[in-house]
Amino acid sequence: MNRDHLIKPILEADYPMVKYGKGVYLYDQDNKKYIDGSSGAVTASIGHGVQEIINAMNEQAKKVSFVYRSQFTSEPAEALAKKLSEIMPGDLNWSFFVNSGSEATETAMKIAIQYWQEQGVYTKTKVISRWMSYHGITMGALSMSGHVARRERFVSLLDDLPSVSAPYCYRCPFNLTYPSCDLLCASELERVIQRTGEDKIAAFIAEPIVGASAAALVPPAGYYEKIKTICDRYNVLFIADEVMTGIGRTGKMLAIEHWEVQPDIVALGKGMSAGYTPIAATLVSDRIMDPILKGSKSIMSGHTYSANPLSTAVALAVLEFIEKHQLVDVAADTGKYLKEKLQEIAKKSSIIGDVRGEGLLLGIEFVTNKIEKRSFNKAFNISGLVIKKSMKKGLLVYQANAGEEGVTGDAIIISPPLVITKKEVDELLAILNEVIDEVEEELGLLNSL
Ligand code: PMP
Repeated sequence: MNRDHLIKPILEADYPMVKYGKGVYLYDQDNKKYIDGSSGAVTASIGHGVQEIINAMNEQAKKVSFVYRSQFTSEPAEALAKKLSEIMPGDLNWSFFVNSGSEATETAMKIAIQYWQEQGVYTKTKVISRWMSYHGITMGALSMSGHVARRERFVSLLDDLPSVSAPYCYRCPFNLTYPSCDLLCASELERVIQRTGEDKIAAFIAEPIVGASAAALVPPAGYYEKIKTICDRYNVLFIADEVMTGIGRTGKMLAIEHWEVQPDIVALGKGMSAGYTPIAATLVSDRIMDPILKGSKSIMSGHTYSANPLSTAVALAVLEFIEKHQLVDVAADTGKYLKEKLQEIAKKSSIIGDVRGEGLLLGIEFVTNKIEKRSFNKAFNISGLVIKKSMKKGLLVYQANAGEEGVTGDAIIISPPLVITKKEVDELLAILNEVIDEVEEELGLLNSL
């Protein structure tokens, strides 16, 4: 087949051609089987080819796939918004549907700014974010993203927003240790707000568990409670970017529920439709909607495909499937099993420095020296090698690295569909184990040259 017209991530790379997917497996043109150890980009949460979702998609397509949101609402869009308000913590009772995680975070930013404007405050337009973060690829979302590799080409066009260090205990940015550090990484937010001026800051955004740029980085106990106290003290809204972590991925409906903190605005994506159709959402709490409802009565954002009946019907079917099979609890249980097994592999491995994460969002960080936590030289691209070898043996894993040599580690994410059985987890681990052994052997050979 001619492959000269589609712009793929790496143009000269030889990607396998997917033919179909079933459960946790994908099959290519040669009928080679791959275990989806990353749910694609942490997306295919309920596995591939689920009949209930295909039925829901067909049923809706037979009725109507698209209406323009300024002309019609639809039953699935209304039902999805209602369902989300029921399953979300606190008063996150309002949904604004978009099509990608980037749009969801960018809309969150705009809603935060509008919230202040509705009350006559026009100076609060900045959103503070953290280094080692990823909030999306569109310009507003990228401005908030502390992902050096994805920013660097466009940096002159970006509002230079990330300004707080990541809560990266494995390599503490302050060279301190928890708990004697007194959560300095959280206190830094207060200093940044004071320096910038409370009157300029609309919100603080964070991935509760950091994904693409840090491989399932979980902040220590008390971190988010401290962050929220600071946000409240300075009238700064708290946006939780749950695009990767939301809808059960970490063993809770939202990852922020691992802490005693309620966000004002939440961005959802990926697992919301488990990859069956593109849809994402910005969830807004009653408190934030209140001045908008009393004021301009409209949110200044939106996309042609926002809230389309087909995608909302699919997302609703996905949420019902997750509920029916109690996949949030299943993810917590299977995730615990997978994490323990990964820790066992790490113990015998010379190159796995850290295993982290919650539920089925787990990360492995590679190091040349476990005691000094020294990273490999970027040229080695160990995570890339692990990914290549895994793929050859029929396992898909996800690269996670913010591209700052010497600052962020080289890591991968293991995030299989929430429906994975423990037997399938063992299959995944057997391949990963072989790959790690092979990489170590090759590195050993290199060292002995
Ligand atoms: N936020 C987070 C936390 C993400 O992980 C991602 C995607 N990796 C995005 C936003 C952007 O989502 P999308 O790729 O759907 O635009």
